[in-house]
Amino acid sequence: MPPQQYTAKVSDSLEYNQKFYSITFELVEPHTLSFKAGQYILLNVPGTEQKKSYSIVSPPSLDHAVELLVDNTPRGYGTRYLGSLRPGDSVSFLAPVGMFGIESQETEIGQQEKALVFVATGSGISALHSIILDQLQNKHDARKMVLYWGLRYTQDSFWIQEFQELEKTFSNFSLHLVFSQAGDDWTLCRGRVTDCLSVHPMVEYAGYYLCGNGGMIKEVQQLLLARGVKQEHIHHEKFF
Ligand SMILES: Cc1cc2nc3c(=O)[nH]c(=O)nc-3n(C[C@H](O)[C@H](O)[C@H](O)COP(=O)(O)OP(=O)(O)OC[C@H]3O[C@@H](n4cnc5c(N)ncnc54)[C@H](O)[C@@H]3O)c2cc1C
Repeated sequence: MPPQQYTAKVSDSLEYNQKFYSITFELVEPHTLSFKAGQYILLNVPGTEQKKSYSIVSPPSLDHAVELLVDNTPRGYGTRYLGSLRPGDSVSFLAPVGMFGIESQETEIGQQEKALVFVATGSGISALHSIILDQLQNKHDARKMVLYWGLRYTQDSFWIQEFQELEKTFSNFSLHLVFSQAGDDWTLCRGRVTDCLSVHPMVEYAGYYLCGNGGMIKEVQQLLLARGVKQEHIHHEKFF
């Protein structure tokens, strides 16, 4: 779908912790959005020329609203504007934008991807949340899927119960959380996502989908290339 200019109203927002919250925009005009999981919106920041990118968290099956996940810490134009919004406020944005998403099974690259490995840091989970829900619940994709999600502190985490429910419902899906600054009570992966990826056996014939900060993307790419993964099977969305 070509991108269109949308107006929408804030319908809901949910604070997960001091760092992250979600915000939902109910579409007004046009009132439906058709998009591919992994795409994002370009939000207009009123009073400025700024347009800020936010990946869509909700799956494409929800077509009358878009949910976003916001990392509240940068405090520039985008996060300050989003933080000022209240239910009923109007927003405008261009959507859908972007090429990040699961490689189509109609391409040779897509056909070679017999498993999917997702790697996120921080708010990079937003695009992967939409993708994972879409693949499991809407597309009934039975390929093995592994999600590595890196956060700084255990108290930064959220959506864990939702992902654990997905693990129970879909035996082909599993989650590895990685905390760079976990307390002593955390007994699983710690450090960077690459540390966690390194200790787990490679998933054979996988497509890798990386989303988050540029440093992580570079490190994971280097690790995968060194392990013989071909560049065309490493897909990424860099947030900053
Ligand atoms: C394709 C794409 C999708 C994106 N999706 C999301 C999303 O779903 N959720 C989200 O919160 N952000 C997302 N971002 C980042 C977002 O567009 C803004 O850059 C971010 O909200 C900061 O904007 P700002 O104006 O508040 O601060 P800026 O003045 O633009 O940034 C200040 C500094 O904050 C840091 N920073 C920027 N983004 C982040 C972040 N997400 N987490 C931690 N530090 C950051 C950078 O070091 C940056 O230099 C996305 C970016 C891109 C390119």
